[in-house]
Amino acid sequence: MFISLIFWGFYAHRLLNNLAIYSLPASMISFYQMEETYIMEHAVDPDKRRYASPFEAARHYIDFEKYGIAPYDSLPQKYTDAIFKYHTLYLVQNTDTVYYKKEGLEMPGYYQIFKKYMAPKLPDGEWEMPSDSLFQLLTGDQEKMGEFVFEDQLNGHGILPWHLMRMQKRLTEAFITMDKPRILQLSAEIGHYIGDAHVPLHTTQNYNGQLTDQIGIHALWESHIPEYFAESTYQLWTGKALYWPDPATIFWEICKESQQLVADVLLLEKQVRDTFPTDKQWCYVIQGKGTIKKPCIDFSKAYQHAMDGMVEKQMKKTIQAIGSSWYTAWVDAGQPNLNKLNVKPIKKGLKTKQNKV
Ligand SMILES: [Zn+2]
Repeated sequence: MFISLIFWGFYAHRLLNNLAIYSLPASMISFYQMEETYIMEHAVDPDKRRYASPFEAARHYIDFEKYGIAPYDSLPQKYTDAIFKYHTLYLVQNTDTVYYKKEGLEMPGYYQIFKKYMAPKLPDGEWEMPSDSLFQLLTGDQEKMGEFVFEDQLNGHGILPWHLMRMQKRLTEAFITMDKPRILQLSAEIGHYIGDAHVPLHTTQNYNGQLTDQIGIHALWESHIPEYFAESTYQLWTGKALYWPDPATIFWEICKESQQLVADVLLLEKQVRDTFPTDKQWCYVIQGKGTIKKPCIDFSKAYQHAMDGMVEKQMKKTIQAIGSSWYTAWVDAGQPNLNKLNVKPIKKGLKTKQNKV
């Protein structure tokens, strides 16, 4: 139950991916329209995978507070640089601990070794220490004495902006090789992560109001409000997809702008909760054979009003960003002719290389 609260509702992710298709230029739209069902249904794969992969959860958020105060300029935009900055490597021997890298201390030559031997091996959150070569390179010893310990101080606080860029590169490569299942899978999934990046509560440690006695605010903002109002009252047409000359910078801007909204998201919910009649904040709704507790529609409306339509604005921005990400990947791949791929739609149950993402 708790885990199900920590990501943008399935409903919203599907809707955002769906509407992004209509921001695409003529040379792309028919390919995506033909695969509309796939693009919508697989919008939620990354959330489903959280239970199966220990590396998945970190891709959906970033705790900016861990890195000082806005604008967080000291955070490296490149993952390799960031993981280099935020890790400790030490060698534990019988009586000693030798640091090769820790805050304020770096052994000469270690950065070069990191870049050359370790960075290229960086997979999705999984770190494998090439310990034999490290012993030789760092200690000059043929014989292993002690144990290298790598302490990661980055992944535990979320890697969303870096993961977005990784996905953008993969999507571009999929267009280059015209790998249809992969284009579709990566398009659907980058749509998901772009959606998460527009949710302010995905950019803070206080992601569910647990630090300020506002538990439940996550689902209220990203699930209940869109479900209640998106299709009935929002104007979600956003205009055409844009070409991004520098996607990494855009991804960082999106996340930082979301972070700027966190204070209002929390403050306004508290103000509405303190002033709205207490017995009209939670409603009990019959669902299936049981009854579930949900924020009441009028209460949600009051919160939405207090935020001056922030959820709607963020959804609009998301839709254009998803379309722009797909469009940019396609342009960067040399604008391949997608009509060649439009043989028949991918079937719902088709197995894709999902585990590789
Ligand atoms: Zn997510």
